[in-house]
Amino acid sequence: MSFSTLPSNDQESENEFESNRQESEVVLRNSISREDGVRRRRSVRSSLPGQRKSVSPTDDSLFAVQDDEDFSVFAKGRDYEPVFVTHKYTEQEKETLSSYESCDYLPTHSHVYKHWIKRQMISNIETDRWIMMGLIGFAVGLLGFLLHQLIERISALKWSTTKEFLDDGKVAVGWMFCSAYSMAFAVFAAAVVVLWRPSAGGSGLPEVTGFLNGTQVKKIFSIKTLVAKFVSCTAAIGCGMPIGPEGPMIHMGAIMGAGLSQGTSDVFKFKLPFFERFRNPEDRRNFISAGVAAGVSAAFGAPVGGLLFCMEEVSSFWSNTLSWQIFFCCIIATSTSDLFNSSFQEFRQIGTFGGFQTSRYILFNVYDAVDINILMFIPSAILGVLGGLLGSAFTILNLKMTRFRKRRLASISSPGLVKVIRFVEPALVMLVMSSFSVFLPMAFKCIPYTCLPSDASTVSDFCVNDTTNKYDSQLREEEETFHTCEEGTHYMNGTTLFSNGTYNELALLLFSSKDEAMKNLYLRNSHRMFNYGPLFVGLIIYFFMVIWAAGTSVAAGILVPMLVIGALYGRILGLMIVDIFGVHLDQSYWSWMDPGAFALIGSASFFSGVARLAPAITSIMMELTNDLKVLLPVMTAVVVAKWVGDYLTHPFFHALLELKCIPFLNQQPNVRINKKNVQLELFTASDIMAFPVVTVNLIEHVPTLAQKLLDYTHNGFPVLKELPNGNCIFHGLITRSELLVMLENKDVLKPGPVEPLDDSNLDIAPIGYDAMLRGPVEREQMQEKFLQQFVDSNSHFRNHYVDLTAYLNMSAMSVPCKFSLHRAYTLISALGLRHLTVVDESNQVKGIITRKDLMGFHMVETLGNIMETRPYFKADRNGDPASSRGNTNHMAGKPIERIEEEEEDEERHGKEDANHSSIRVGENECKRMVIKEFATVRRTEGQEVNQLCEGQYQRP
Ligand code: ATP
Repeated sequence: MSFSTLPSNDQESENEFESNRQESEVVLRNSISREDGVRRRRSVRSSLPGQRKSVSPTDDSLFAVQDDEDFSVFAKGRDYEPVFVTHKYTEQEKETLSSYESCDYLPTHSHVYKHWIKRQMISNIETDRWIMMGLIGFAVGLLGFLLHQLIERISALKWSTTKEFLDDGKVAVGWMFCSAYSMAFAVFAAAVVVLWRPSAGGSGLPEVTGFLNGTQVKKIFSIKTLVAKFVSCTAAIGCGMPIGPEGPMIHMGAIMGAGLSQGTSDVFKFKLPFFERFRNPEDRRNFISAGVAAGVSAAFGAPVGGLLFCMEEVSSFWSNTLSWQIFFCCIIATSTSDLFNSSFQEFRQIGTFGGFQTSRYILFNVYDAVDINILMFIPSAILGVLGGLLGSAFTILNLKMTRFRKRRLASISSPGLVKVIRFVEPALVMLVMSSFSVFLPMAFKCIPYTCLPSDASTVSDFCVNDTTNKYDSQLREEEETFHTCEEGTHYMNGTTLFSNGTYNELALLLFSSKDEAMKNLYLRNSHRMFNYGPLFVGLIIYFFMVIWAAGTSVAAGILVPMLVIGALYGRILGLMIVDIFGVHLDQSYWSWMDPGAFALIGSASFFSGVARLAPAITSIMMELTNDLKVLLPVMTAVVVAKWVGDYLTHPFFHALLELKCIPFLNQQPNVRINKKNVQLELFTASDIMAFPVVTVNLIEHVPTLAQKLLDYTHNGFPVLKELPNGNCIFHGLITRSELLVMLENKDVLKPGPVEPLDDSNLDIAPIGYDAMLRGPVEREQMQEKFLQQFVDSNSHFRNHYVDLTAYLNMSAMSVPCKFSLHRAYTLISALGLRHLTVVDESNQVKGIITRKDLMGFHMVETLGNIMETRPYFKADRNGDPASSRGNTNHMAGKPIERIEEEEEDEERHGKEDANHSSIRVGENECKRMVIKEFATVRRTEGQEVNQLCEGQYQRP
């Protein structure tokens, strides 16, 4: 079959068209009932004509599925899965997953792309790329500085004014001010998100991670989202919500990376004439990765941590060159924000510009680091276990809470009421939090700190309580931490500063910003600064309030709050050790028993228990605290927390991806069936591929093409080329969007006959690479109407053809049917492929695999069916070697001849079955499968189900 060579006169060509059309229909029908010789599960997803995809949610907070039975708080369901268990999705969630479109990592390798790239000037050292990295770093650093300053300003005003009221004995007025101030900012932060930009809500981390993995999430890189995120995050954190700016900084960094590198804006309708060569998917993703890393660097003042965080958690594609470039970007981001933060406080200049002040750029600087001891690894490991347990509990409760909230919001029919609830919720969080901050410390008595001479001679050394601990000068400077307690007096005796006053332990944790609380918790040589009561109360409050606040409709991250939670239980353990073994100071053998050091290790363990990132967390902790001495105990706690957490839940950020139904492909496949890991090396590409495949011809008849686009929602179509012997072989791949762009450009639609373009005139293809990349102008909702004009019987284009030669992806990957499924997975995930075509020995298209076909839940379903029906696996299941990890040869114990015999046998069976369609299921089972699996793609009518099962599935 071919549409490429056409008779010359009109009548002939019309006949040819008619016969071609019939031929194409026959081929399509045949292909539906054709079997390619290997027995496997038939995918009906690909053969449903007219299927339409649902639309991905624009406001995630309102997206809730109704077929979820595991949503209630105590239901033991999908939120309790260890990492090695594949996440299960409900049918509606699968529908949502398929509504997200994927994107290729590499640009389409077409002639127009080659022509475009030929025009780009690329210097040997790629100066422009380094300049762009520097620019992104500077912009993100500046943004971090502005965010810090504004947050400081809003926060300082709140606490200082409340403190004034408390000092005057007006506790009720102080509480009212504190609550009203915080609630006003919280409502404002929510309003920006709810009324203006829903995509700015939350941290944005799952969306960015999903995008870098290859999923397009709408509107996340818009300039409006950036502004909304900045405003919402500043207001929410400034007013004291128990959330952090790091997640939003990551998202804002990503937007900066996308915006600056592409130099275009749909909102402001401009396109800069610089850096044109970066306008391709690969560079865009790389610059977004740089923005992410710069965001972490600027937020924590941790350039190496930022780089590692991006590499470990967010970015799916990495190379050594990219490491260097992103590293440079992180240096610029950190130095910009550190430099400005060192010179300004609440926008007022402090010191001279140019100096870096340690206390301003090392966020939680530790001054009196203690030497470690081998015994310290024991409590560190215990903290690791606690981190894993509490981190998992935090993750589960967070997911439960989010599911619960979404369901409740989705069940309210009035949109106005939903909005009101979404404003009220953060305000309520702040009302509770303000009440805790003002009233709870009063339940704890003021502790006197009698200053005893310290052993050091500098005035900055201080003491607290009735021990000889040195106490950092910050307690005196931060007046608000005294709450309603007597401040005392300071006086000098020689070179030593003395002070006598009282302080409130819980106020140190609640009646100030989280940063201040962290500094107090990490303080060294302050063994009994906090007692169990305030620590436990602080722990409970932070643990639950962070869970509550993080899911509200404001731009919020949880990284710093996680550090506070970890520091609290770390200090509790430290205090226990001190209680048992006593206070040991000043470089003695036991001086490692410092609760401040355990607070730091606790932070790292909780971070790891939630996020399961090892190098990134370790590095961030070191850069945040400047305490290299505890490196090894921190590493121990991080690793143990990860092991424990992995046995209980999925990592938090991945669980959020699952909750939001954003498709994500792990680097390594994880398929578990019947509680056993499945070795994908035992399966082939043809086991998972969808077939029959809807293909297009190199020279395609326009109405036929439009009809295919109307009938099928697939986003990629293998392009076939006809050989002289009449066989049509795989020649490349073209996406739906590219085909639509071509149909929109009438210059490429020519009346037949059409000769394929030859290499000499490919450079003058009418549509440029930029236009192909931008996609169709026609809006998605209008596309059906647009396509209809080509298929109408009186269409002007009845006899028109389109030549795809210049636009198809010539480097689209294909693999043979017997190609290992494991390697196909690796190929797709490592190269960021969207489609992988499966061909036979003669390069004829047999099937197609998309990224989503390789998602864990889909593979479990598909391969599970195969294992049920294939004797090959049944035999193995008796002996059980098939699915054991590490045993790549599932036929262990069988002689190789027997294995080959079985394979041949199986193939023969496949061929025999070919005429009756392969799968061995009864008709009823078939119908159930069709309804269950493919209703996600499109509402399947009863009649269609019958037809499908009649033609496709036979009783054994
Ligand atoms: P993407 O986000 O890239 O669109 P998807 O898996 O949702 O991913 P679709 O193109 O909608 O992609 O495909 C849905 C199903 O149809 C998948 O199982 C896929 O393997 C199959 N499929 C994709 N393209 C074709 C095609 N041209 N012919 C037949 N089946 C296809």
